[in-house]
Amino acid sequence: MGSTQLELRVILTKKFISMALAGMFVCVSNSIAQENSLNIYSARHYPTDEALYGNFSKATGIKINRVDADDAGILARLKAEGAASPADVILLVDASRLWKGEIEGLFQPVKSKLLSDAIAPQFRGKANLDGAIPWFGFSTRARVVVYNKLKVAKEEVDTYEKLGNPINNGRLCIRSGSHPYNLSLFGSVLEHLGEEKTQTWLKGMVENMARSPKGGDTDQIKGVATGECSVAVTNSYYLARLMRSEKSEDKAMMEKLGVVFPNQASWGTHVNIAGAAVAKNAKNRENAIKFLEYLASPTAQSHFADGNNEWPVAQGVSISNPALKALTGNGFKSENIPVSVVGMNQVKVQQLLDRVGFK
Ligand code: FE
Repeated sequence: MGSTQLELRVILTKKFISMALAGMFVCVSNSIAQENSLNIYSARHYPTDEALYGNFSKATGIKINRVDADDAGILARLKAEGAASPADVILLVDASRLWKGEIEGLFQPVKSKLLSDAIAPQFRGKANLDGAIPWFGFSTRARVVVYNKLKVAKEEVDTYEKLGNPINNGRLCIRSGSHPYNLSLFGSVLEHLGEEKTQTWLKGMVENMARSPKGGDTDQIKGVATGECSVAVTNSYYLARLMRSEKSEDKAMMEKLGVVFPNQASWGTHVNIAGAAVAKNAKNRENAIKFLEYLASPTAQSHFADGNNEWPVAQGVSISNPALKALTGNGFKSENIPVSVVGMNQVKVQQLLDRVGFK
């Protein structure tokens, strides 16, 4: 045998061994995947969630493999992977994205009495003809207004409508209009006010901006604290996080700010959800449903409040979060339109944003 032939034979043998090993690996990983593990694609970006996953694994022996990305990244990845996707559970942090995942056929609807009993219809996707539900909200967050107490009177910002009023000219900091948190808020306002008034309102907000939309919600809060603007829109848990911070600069920042839960005298404050669905091509379907049911359990539900400063969707869950108590006192009035409707309105909202030049 010539040296070239020998090399070829060695290469082929090596290739065969590696293919065999790969085959074995696939078999082993498949059996693990089906029996003992759960693959989660998660857009939840909260460090305190580690305990949430850890407690599930401890209680069930099911190992969690997690891929972290933002909502849009996860939906794009699911689409690209198609039937080969290893994802079992999808965790997203906004109603409009959950709705998008549903209509793009990326989820498989689930029938679970436990989930249907724990989660009110307002906070879940619409059931299909078989009564199966495409996605569930597990925690809520309010979209609130913060303002500089020295420059702005509370009465000037106590409704969403007033953010578009000339009284707030040059005052407003807000993140991109196309961000899911704002698409959902604007989708809710569209539901309450109708198209014409919503367009006028959005245009008013563009005219009131202290600067072009940029950054996340915490950047808007900081913008008010530093004087870049004097009114901003944020999700409630970012505020609660700053309220619980031990850092002296965070404490000093919060001293300057007033917080309003808008529209208490009318339809109530807009509430969004973080939620989950079973992936269309889930290989570990049973484990996926188990995980969703775990998220609805009192332990996990109180974790959303105590760990990440959200509110549980399930009724009667005890929470001990001083920042949430300080924020809402005796509670607040939240809107009661189904979050799925808010998701449905996002296409229209994007058109309105383009029309009025809301970046
Ligand atoms: Fe967030």
